[in-house]
Amino acid sequence: MVIENKLVTFDELKASYSRYITNKSDLERIEKAYKYADKKHEGQFRKSGDPYVSHVLGVAMILSSMQTSPDTIIAGLLHDTIEDTDTTKEDIEQTFGSEVAFLVESLTKITRLSDFHNSDFQAEDHRKIFLAMAADIRVIIIKLADRLHNMRTLQFQPPAKQVRISNETLDVYVPIAHRLGLNSLMSEMQNLSLYYLHPDIYNDIEKKLQKSYNQIDSSLQFLKAKIQSILSTTNLEYEISARVKSIYSIYKKMYIKNKKFEDIYDILALRIITKTETNCYEILGYIHSSFTPVPGRFKDYIAVPKPNMYQSLHTTILSGDGHVFEIQIRTKEMDETAEGGIAAHWRYKEGTSYDPRSEQKDIEARLHWFKDFVRMSYEGRDDLNAKEYESQLKEDIFNANVYVFTPKGKVIDLPNGATPIDFAYRIHTGLGNSLSGAKVNNKLVPLSTKLKTGDMVEIITRKDAQPNSEWLNIAGTGFAKSHIRKYLSKLNSEFTKQEQVDKGRNSLKDSIRERKLSTSWNSIEKLLTDQKLFANFQVKDLDDLYFKVANKTIMPNAILDFLNINRSSQEALQDHLEDELKKANILKKKISSEDAVLLENGDSALISLANCCTPIPGDEIIGYVSKGRGIKVHRKDCPNIAHEHARIVSVIWNPELDKTKKYPVDFVLECYDRNGLLVDIMNTITSYGAGLTNISARYKANKGVTVVSVTALIDNASVLDKLFTNLMNIKSVYSVKRTSH
Ligand code: MN
Repeated sequence: MVIENKLVTFDELKASYSRYITNKSDLERIEKAYKYADKKHEGQFRKSGDPYVSHVLGVAMILSSMQTSPDTIIAGLLHDTIEDTDTTKEDIEQTFGSEVAFLVESLTKITRLSDFHNSDFQAEDHRKIFLAMAADIRVIIIKLADRLHNMRTLQFQPPAKQVRISNETLDVYVPIAHRLGLNSLMSEMQNLSLYYLHPDIYNDIEKKLQKSYNQIDSSLQFLKAKIQSILSTTNLEYEISARVKSIYSIYKKMYIKNKKFEDIYDILALRIITKTETNCYEILGYIHSSFTPVPGRFKDYIAVPKPNMYQSLHTTILSGDGHVFEIQIRTKEMDETAEGGIAAHWRYKEGTSYDPRSEQKDIEARLHWFKDFVRMSYEGRDDLNAKEYESQLKEDIFNANVYVFTPKGKVIDLPNGATPIDFAYRIHTGLGNSLSGAKVNNKLVPLSTKLKTGDMVEIITRKDAQPNSEWLNIAGTGFAKSHIRKYLSKLNSEFTKQEQVDKGRNSLKDSIRERKLSTSWNSIEKLLTDQKLFANFQVKDLDDLYFKVANKTIMPNAILDFLNINRSSQEALQDHLEDELKKANILKKKISSEDAVLLENGDSALISLANCCTPIPGDEIIGYVSKGRGIKVHRKDCPNIAHEHARIVSVIWNPELDKTKKYPVDFVLECYDRNGLLVDIMNTITSYGAGLTNISARYKANKGVTVVSVTALIDNASVLDKLFTNLMNIKSVYSVKRTSH
């Protein structure tokens, strides 16, 4: 790689942003910001010997090439002023407004947060940086531009720092760029990091790439011409170009996936850019009918975009002369998103009412990205719910203004006003719960002492110590408070158990009243005190039984059914049921193959399949006589009819049933999320000839799994069985279950 240190001049920057910013006051503000930064950084120099302002010009140039807003470019120009010069947030606010001041201040916080840890930089610290950045998407974009420019000028740093910065870039910044779909920027960061971490590997791949490019380029040109001649017979508008796989992507395939260079077939790919989504599929059709596609290599990211919004069709074909090529087909808009991700999507457009707040909201909703960042640090914190965790961590980190030390020298960031209680809970929940005293700088202090930056804090614990409600007034962080509350409510729950027991007893009494039984409560309570009954419901004693009735783990009807004390009421209902059947006139005579389900005696009736448990032929079923709406067929194990005894009739599947008909079935898969998961699931379902009418995925933070809900049209239960077996074989799917609503 030839790394050149090309300095950006202000005139070049101006030419760049003037392409899309023409508003006079915006232009003046940007120019003013440049002069301001130039003056503030006067006398400061980069390791390269260039004036410091060359760095902020470089950063602003990257931002301008992504067509970011004027405020973002201004903040890019000013991003190091608070940290490296005598400028204050108030100065910036006065001259450039609160929006710019907020951005620069956030960037300064990130710089401080990362510098503090320096040599002993750990995963947890990375996460804090992610979260601090997640405050505003513009902060992330500026920070990424800052990092990219530092990577571009890394040759002037000492070797040890080159390695540290490159590792940090791969660990922290590349995943964010990937998540946001900023692919060009990510790719450049990856290539530069590899260059500094493994120069010989980098050079080796670069050489191989050059050599192989010469070899396959002629084949590629041949294929390109062939495709052009096929498409020229249509009136489709398109552009066709070749794209070369990045050196880092090749490195990953070779060294992480253990492939030989020769076995990577998508080093060169053809990219076809066309006008509309429909055109994409049309072109795909022409290509698949003229070349042999490689089975299993077709990916439809248009119908199912990647989480970072990437959309394209991918297919791999045999070119006919012994080469295999990947072809990517997409619209111009999709192509821009593929290269620039959200930056392309939320490009600044003059004349439209641009609002950074709604942009932020839109991005959070579309990418779920804040949740993703939180997810990484949430693991193992199941004592708090994810939402609580998210909002508190957000709040605590953005308010972090005090940096204190543990006795071992680790830095802990806390908000202003934090006390030793906050410190203890920040380190570990157990430490907070057993806290009995604290030392600050080796002196015993009251727990209400406000900590200051630089304090060394030591927590004294005692086995029998426990939080008290007074601590809620002393603790300053939401984190500590919620842990204290949690502990106190657990203590209190012991007192409320008796209330629960009473509640359970009452609801059992109510159910008996509903069944119009004449048996007295006293004799029922005697019946209840029975070891067999306890064993059946897995309870210790009567109180435990009532307790579980109160929190609905055991249904009162199930207990009464177990005691078999419902006979008289059931008989009464049976009569009523027969009336209902007659009154609704639901018995009809003629049987057709249209009737999926018949009465047990083979008679046809007004019968329909229940939506709650979606029974299909082959399932064990049971009929429920609804009031005036005929018979609803449920699966035998459907919880919605588990407690029905009356109104139940036996039904059977029609033996003459129309075999070509398909029935909707609802089911859910529990999976660990990964790229391409939904596509694999969809492919498996459709390969069964099953129609897919609905598929949606939801991430459950408390379980750390992704739940995919599906409605598919299926022939019968044995087909469904086979489908389930195949779904279970998909990587990272670990459970498939039918659902009842
Ligand atoms: Mn910088």
